[in-house]
Amino acid sequence: MRPVIRKFPAGSATPKGAIPQRESDMYAVVPRLPSGVVTADQLEALARAIRAYDIPIAKLTSGQRVSLMGVKGADVPGVWAMLGMGEGRAVKHGMHYVQACPGSAACGYGQQNSLALAAALEERLGELSMPSKVKVGVSGCPMCCGESYLRDVGLLGRKGGWTVIFGGNAGGRPRVGDELAAGLDAGAALDLVERALTRYAATAKTGQRTARYMEALRKRPDGMAEWRAALGLPVG
Ligand code: SF4
Repeated sequence: MRPVIRKFPAGSATPKGAIPQRESDMYAVVPRLPSGVVTADQLEALARAIRAYDIPIAKLTSGQRVSLMGVKGADVPGVWAMLGMGEGRAVKHGMHYVQACPGSAACGYGQQNSLALAAALEERLGELSMPSKVKVGVSGCPMCCGESYLRDVGLLGRKGGWTVIFGGNAGGRPRVGDELAAGLDAGAALDLVERALTRYAATAKTGQRTARYMEALRKRPDGMAEWRAALGLPVG
């Protein structure tokens, strides 16, 4: 759920790690849960915080996180202390989340280990500085339950390796991402994602999502050829 951003009166400050909501002095707290994988300890910590601070809404989000909504400003530090988890980016520029399907770790259709690749990607690239928000979807087979074609960065597992997709978006102006390469092993796929994100970060306008960036590239006669050459990919 996209948070409702409201204008606060002069002098009011949003508590650290909180997202302003519609009501005055009400915030959302979104802990980081990579790929939506949770432990029993984390679930217990979430339940303890919800009960202790009487949090009215705990929402599973499309980004495979839990958003605790309706937290009073004064309670935000206590909620974070009780959770003992890192902050999931929800409104700032940068990598917001990496969603992943169960892949070959658990799904009978899985052809690649999507959970392992998602964890490696978040570990290696999660803190890259980006001009806009970046969402990642990793799917372990062509059924694409990780919505890889509709994320800024998508990875799709096939028997022969990983397909890397860039520039997808599922928002109000949806776009199917461009396939950059296929048949890559996990290391080569991560290397290509890093090159694509680095190039995007260096050349996109501030606030320009990857979908709009790729559309702009495609409008230029040699845009896609230049992009692929810059990433070390075959052109034409
Ligand atoms: S994308 Fe494939 S591997 Fe992943 S959950 Fe769906 S069917 Fe299973």
